[in-house]
Amino acid sequence: MKTISRHCPQCKSYQLIEPQPETDIQCPQCAASWGVYVSDDAVFDRCPCCTCRQFYAAKDFNQALGCLIMGFGIVLVPWTFGLSLPVFAFVDWLLYRRVPAVICCYRCGSEFRGFSSTKDFKPFMHHIGLKYDKYR
Ligand SMILES: [Zn+2]
Ligand SMILES: [Zn+2]
Repeated sequence: MKTISRHCPQCKSYQLIEPQPETDIQCPQCAASWGVYVSDDAVFDRCPCCTCRQFYAAKDFNQALGCLIMGFGIVLVPWTFGLSLPVFAFVDWLLYRRVPAVICCYRCGSEFRGFSSTKDFKPFMHHIGLKYDKYR
């Protein structure tokens, strides 16, 4: 399932939509137009909401869970002679890999889930993020 989620610029609420090709995308809450969704392939050429061309990849990974797993690994060190650390780090990494990537627009912050793209998105770059700070 492909979804776009973002904070609506008009009603300020966080909304999620399932876009259909060649249709307008509208906020389900206040019906404000977010832009035009052209096709699945074009979505990462230009953001359908703000026509921005830069995106970054993030993970829907629960940081607290990751810390908890590593915390267990550290607690068990005296009984496992330190072997628990690499084992738990591995579990952590496995969990991280299983989490699907979410692609985010730098400018408007829209989150794109479930899209397959041949592009290789980089994680968030601070210096690029700064450029778009004024739009947020
Ligand atoms: Zn809205
Ligand atoms: Zn955008």
